[in-house]
Amino acid sequence: MQLTDQTIVAPATAAGEGGVGIIRLSGPESLAFLRRFFTPSSQVDTFRSHQLYHGHMHAADGEVVDEVLAVHMHAPRSYTGEDVVEVHGHGGILIQRRLLDLFLDAGVRLASPGEFTLRAFLNGRIDLAQAEGVIDVIRSRSDAASRLAMRQLDGVLSRRIHEFRDRLLESLAFIEAHIDFPDEEIEPPHLSRVVESLTVVRQDIAGMLARFDQGRVLREGLHVLILGRPNVGKSSLLNALLGEARAIVTEIPGTTRDTIEESLVLGGVPLRLIDTAGVRDAADPVEAEGVRRSREYCATADLVLLVIDGSCEPHHEDLLALEACADRPLLLVVNKSDRPQQTLPLPFSNLPAIAVSAKTGVGLDFLSQEISRKFIGSGEAQESIQVSDRRHREAMLRCQSALDNFLAATSSNPSPEFLALDLREALQALGEITGETTPDAILDQIFSRFCVGK
Ligand code: GDP
Repeated sequence: MQLTDQTIVAPATAAGEGGVGIIRLSGPESLAFLRRFFTPSSQVDTFRSHQLYHGHMHAADGEVVDEVLAVHMHAPRSYTGEDVVEVHGHGGILIQRRLLDLFLDAGVRLASPGEFTLRAFLNGRIDLAQAEGVIDVIRSRSDAASRLAMRQLDGVLSRRIHEFRDRLLESLAFIEAHIDFPDEEIEPPHLSRVVESLTVVRQDIAGMLARFDQGRVLREGLHVLILGRPNVGKSSLLNALLGEARAIVTEIPGTTRDTIEESLVLGGVPLRLIDTAGVRDAADPVEAEGVRRSREYCATADLVLLVIDGSCEPHHEDLLALEACADRPLLLVVNKSDRPQQTLPLPFSNLPAIAVSAKTGVGLDFLSQEISRKFIGSGEAQESIQVSDRRHREAMLRCQSALDNFLAATSSNPSPEFLALDLREALQALGEITGETTPDAILDQIFSRFCVGK
């Protein structure tokens, strides 16, 4: 882990042209470094915390580098919990670089990715789940995802985990008291109180895990595959959904030879939408490769949109496409509803279906509503999602299985040593979510996902 006695610096705003660009410093010497280069426009004896001061940044030779607003945030009331300084300059790549260089040349160390947030964590201002909420807030691709991330940053998940930990610690203390007095048996009524309390914890964890899939979809996006034989309108559907012509739409069967992947938000659900080569009996090796890839994509898709042309009789290639995705969550998209429609025969008539016209846009609303109903539920249901990160899920599963072992042992062989082992394991797993017991290698991995300056 990094030492926090050094002062670090990094641009806090993205590189590029903008109204304002911010250089941020954190650490014990932040204010001293600011004073070295900043000349306020009116006399300042002591910088008041959290107050903006107007002035100029000067190079060591006295040359004016930029006109800025500067602020000092006194520890511990800052993002990192340390003394923090921000210099709000003009948002140009060159000028920001020169401001940064002033500090670097003076010996301030360039912050590594995520180091400001890492310090906030090490200084106990936020816990690990909250720190992960910070990246999720920055990366979220839909309103619902950013609300979910904000709740995590606010500590909704952390508070739940702490409630569980408190209960577990209470139970552990009780069990451990009996280890010290091996001759005394744990009295059944006392043990059953512990069992009762931890059964509730186990149920609550199971409830949180049950909503994980919705959380994951909001956080990571839904992996949707558009599948169907050539010419049913897959590319047109993708384009209609995107509202822009990215895939080439043509009348020649099988032109979408490779896959096209797009990101969009539909009905509040962030999607990775993949348009595959049409599924067909292909003699052409390029087509055959596309079909093989479609099958492969099916295996990992959260949802397959199987597109057929509703204006003509189903074709045996439609059946091939259905076969490729039959075991996946599937929605039949009956396209070309602007033309006279054929009645759907079996097995298509048994599938959940939505009629659309990629050409006129009719039905696309229903399609997006259906996707959001199926995968993320109502706004109220979203409010109850607390676990959306695979790392958290994995830790909660471990906690759950340790609790299962504990509960099973209480009914057969309540040896306090063994019971305590299970509880410690459950506590260890929960502590990894909030960071108390997370191995350093995992911490490094988490913070390296941040950008420099966060
Ligand atoms: P793909 O091979 O499945 O990707 O199909 P395309 O998107 O290239 O469309 C094949 C043909 O069907 C093109 O001529 C499209 O203009 C036409 N098409 C696609 N969607 C519709 C629709 O909803 N209605 C009508 N009438 N034609 C459509």
